[in-house]
Amino acid sequence: MSRTPVIAGNWKMYKTTAEAREFAAAVKNELQNVSGVEMVVCAPFTTLSVLQEALAGSKIAVGAQNIHFAEEGAYTGEVAPRMLTDLGVRYVIIGHSERRAYFNETNETVNKKVQAALKHDLVPIVCVGEDLSEREAGQTFSIVETQTRAALAGIEAGQAAGLTIAYEPIWAIGTGKSSTAADANEVIAHIRKTVAELYDGETASRIRIQYGGSVKPENIGEYLAQPDIDGALVGGASLAPDSYVGLIRGAV
Ligand code: PEP
Repeated sequence: MSRTPVIAGNWKMYKTTAEAREFAAAVKNELQNVSGVEMVVCAPFTTLSVLQEALAGSKIAVGAQNIHFAEEGAYTGEVAPRMLTDLGVRYVIIGHSERRAYFNETNETVNKKVQAALKHDLVPIVCVGEDLSEREAGQTFSIVETQTRAALAGIEAGQAAGLTIAYEPIWAIGTGKSSTAADANEVIAHIRKTVAELYDGETASRIRIQYGGSVKPENIGEYLAQPDIDGALVGGASLAPDSYVGLIRGAV
């Protein structure tokens, strides 16, 4: 089955509303005629409504970088899924390694967030990946398999098929060290096999699995040429308009 690649920028904690508007104005017309790739920008909560407005009428979808799993409640500082859908947001990154490392996110909270996102028709981009010591210990496959199984616990096949997984080796994020395309493909094929074991071949052939970790316009083509890699989650190189446009052009 052919899967449409998804290229998602992860702005992390960068850009004010004015900077977000400037970005949108710079990329909107440039990317108006692009087809065959889904384009997403995952921005800080404070810029989501500005981006929704500035990108209206374009093919670029807006995503958030986190959600809380509760419907609403006394959770100071948190944002509920329906607050995102209220703005027209379509995607949400869940379980990014920075959130697992600095904000105590666990496989269990990641699963709750995936369930909450799906309940509200948000498309989760679920991040999995090993750190350097785990890689050196030969644990990459078992780490991504455990994270994938935990994230998808209790999710039905039809919903699993519609979500996106991002394989992001932690040692490659923001470091300039990227996994080779062949290595990334091998791990992603293992994640797909895990999905097939959890569900069936049909679900595994539909789910989209991105690579993330120091992807740039110059190397994105190598990743997308691999049979199991269905796009990229990109941090640093998604911030400048020219670079974001370069990523998209390199993907089609
Ligand atoms: C990320 O933030 O998910 C990421 C992959 O960052 P970078 O592209 O900067 O390595």
